[in-house]
Amino acid sequence: MNLSEQVKQAGVIGAGGAGFPTHVKLAAKVDCFLINGAECEPLMHKDRELMTHFAKELIGGIKLAYKAVGAKNAVIGIKSKNQDALNALQSAIDDPNISIHEFGDYYPVGDEYELVYGITGKHIPPQGLPLDVGCVVNNVETIYNIYKAANNEPVTDTFLTVTGLVKNPISTRVPVGMTVKDVLQLAGGTTVPEYGMMESGLMMGTLITDINQPVTKTTGGIIVLPADHNLITRYSKTQKEMDRIGHSACDQCSYCTELCPRYLLGYDIQPHLVMRSLGFTAMGKELWNKYAQLCCQCGICTLYACPEALFPREACVKSMQNMRESGKGKWEGSTEIKTHPMHDHRRLPLKQLMNRLGVTKYEAHAGYRETSPEPDKVYITLDQNVGAPAEAVVKKGDVVKKGQLIGRIPADKLGANVHASINGRVTDVTDTKIIIERDK
Ligand code: SF4
Ligand code: SF4
Repeated sequence: MNLSEQVKQAGVIGAGGAGFPTHVKLAAKVDCFLINGAECEPLMHKDRELMTHFAKELIGGIKLAYKAVGAKNAVIGIKSKNQDALNALQSAIDDPNISIHEFGDYYPVGDEYELVYGITGKHIPPQGLPLDVGCVVNNVETIYNIYKAANNEPVTDTFLTVTGLVKNPISTRVPVGMTVKDVLQLAGGTTVPEYGMMESGLMMGTLITDINQPVTKTTGGIIVLPADHNLITRYSKTQKEMDRIGHSACDQCSYCTELCPRYLLGYDIQPHLVMRSLGFTAMGKELWNKYAQLCCQCGICTLYACPEALFPREACVKSMQNMRESGKGKWEGSTEIKTHPMHDHRRLPLKQLMNRLGVTKYEAHAGYRETSPEPDKVYITLDQNVGAPAEAVVKKGDVVKKGQLIGRIPADKLGANVHASINGRVTDVTDTKIIIERDK
């Protein structure tokens, strides 16, 4: 079995948040294999900790993967500030074709377009993939999972950081399907009775609305904030509320565009023009919607740039959806990309972003600790990946072992297998999830 097939069997997907099935990337042929260790989300440290504590496994995974795709070399993108991780990787590298590229502490250098440009100097074509410029990019946790897959170990755990208003901020790994409520206990629980939570990041993550929701293969962290924190309030708004505020208050100052990292990279994305779509007729909308198409949803416009605290990112997301639904989602603008002359001068330092978000005081080391949690119950969702949801291959009452296949990729579809993350008995199977209870 080749590496791509092993990775497919093991259910490896992009752990950086995207959830794209990794076996597809490994079946490609490219010149350069890139590894994304440029963790950018404020307060999140699980990638830094993974690189520090599992450097040997990472380098092992990189060696297998870059050879599998026929690349001549592999480059790890990492921020210079993460000195412990850098030292660990440098000591573990035993292959002259693997090197390290250091980034400054800016947001969002981990965006795939930024990462590829930063390391290779190449622009991915609009709406294109790294593959279009001879590269493939994988997050560090994905590489770790590739290494495990090559040793016949499927994905059963996810690495995450638990931080913010918790007693002992921590980075650790937990079984996929463990509830947020159980995960919080690994950090000693929350320090306040009333709080709000974000999953996987403050900029590109999502609001957690149910403490009993399970973590998935792509969960990178849980951040606990005061219930009345500005970020929690903003993420709680409905699309209708955001549209209404934007329609009445946008003065077209264009700061959102001037600070947009994709615009600064040279792409024709202009959120201030997209904001006009909120007040126009269906025909006018189409005109403005197209300026949203190259948005990576980094959130700078909404959470940092806009002086009126409006929602240009959300307007872009809605516009992209409108275009897709009307069959006009394909980029028809210029494919010539020229980096904006202010690209290097308008970068957003992470510290500045954290000050603006009002989260500097929640910064904590959140070092790695092995917690080996044994949850009584896990809720393993079948749609953790890009593509089709997995199809259950177990039924209520079945006894399963950790690592056993419980959901399979549907025939001829893009998807990912799922495996039991604990030993136990299947207590329910629905279209969306499989529940396993630990045998006591
Ligand atoms: S920064 Fe805010 S107010 Fe200015 S154009 Fe953008 S959305 Fe409108
Ligand atoms: S979220 Fe805003 S700043 Fe980020 S890429 Fe999209 S438009 Fe640009």
